[in-house]
Amino acid sequence: MIAMSEINQMNNNQNLRYESSLDEGKCNRKSSILESFNPYSSRSIDLGNGQLIGGGNFQTIAGPCSVEGEHIFELASFLSSCGVTILRGGAFKPRTCPDSFQGLGKTGLDLLAQAGKANNMLTISEIMSERDLDLYQDIDILQVGARNCQNYSLLKELGKSNKPVLLKRGMATTVDELLSCARYITQAGNDRVILCERGIRTFETKTRNTFDVSSIASLHNECDFPIVADPSHATGLSNLVAPCTLAAMGCGADGIIVEVHENPEQALSDKDQALTPDEFQKLMHDVDALHNFLTR
Ligand code: PEP
Ligand code: MN
Repeated sequence: MIAMSEINQMNNNQNLRYESSLDEGKCNRKSSILESFNPYSSRSIDLGNGQLIGGGNFQTIAGPCSVEGEHIFELASFLSSCGVTILRGGAFKPRTCPDSFQGLGKTGLDLLAQAGKANNMLTISEIMSERDLDLYQDIDILQVGARNCQNYSLLKELGKSNKPVLLKRGMATTVDELLSCARYITQAGNDRVILCERGIRTFETKTRNTFDVSSIASLHNECDFPIVADPSHATGLSNLVAPCTLAAMGCGADGIIVEVHENPEQALSDKDQALTPDEFQKLMHDVDALHNFLTR
């Protein structure tokens, strides 16, 4: 049995150790994690319009899950006023249930493109089939959704396109498999690929998916593609979007893609995870503060 006096002595030694390391100036933040792990090691990619992502250029991509109509104009204008330069919005939606809102299709793409132009923003929208490529002429960035991550014929076709591709991780795709998927695009000639962690399927039911934040750090060690995090689909819950965004940034995310809706209750898809404009404004404040800290 250890006597109390021994415990006190151990505590004293412990305190002495802390004090001496402080005295010697060893408690130096720069010599810790940020020195051994460069969170911004990806190469930068030009997304168009002079907008870069990667290599220290952080981007917040935001917009509704689905383009639902004219609402996209006001929302785009609000997001632009918050400093967002890339507008997201689905038009061809991969819904689990065929009875759910499937998106506005071509009309949705046109509205998104117009709202983007009106606010000097780039646009990104999910493409589900290579047969639709012609419809995406006015969209700047092509998004491959989780469900199509391993759709090799789609990936090969997008490899021939001259638009950047944001490739989301499949819900049951390993990090290595995701990297192989990216190579389908690059080998076909398109090296403007951005990877996206959007959560994976696990036994956990508290969140829509399990946000595999470690994959972001891991991918940075394996490749130089910019990595984006999608805390909206990863969690499925609006109140978890902010903390998971900050965690992703700590692991070196080069950007986030976030769902925002002017009235989440009324959203035609993914209403539980959409941020209100107010919530988004607060998130932007935190993102800026953490970005400044990480790049100081
Ligand atoms: C989306 O971004 O709207 C979407 C459907 O995401 P995911 O492919 O990650 O489910
Ligand atoms: Mn969605």
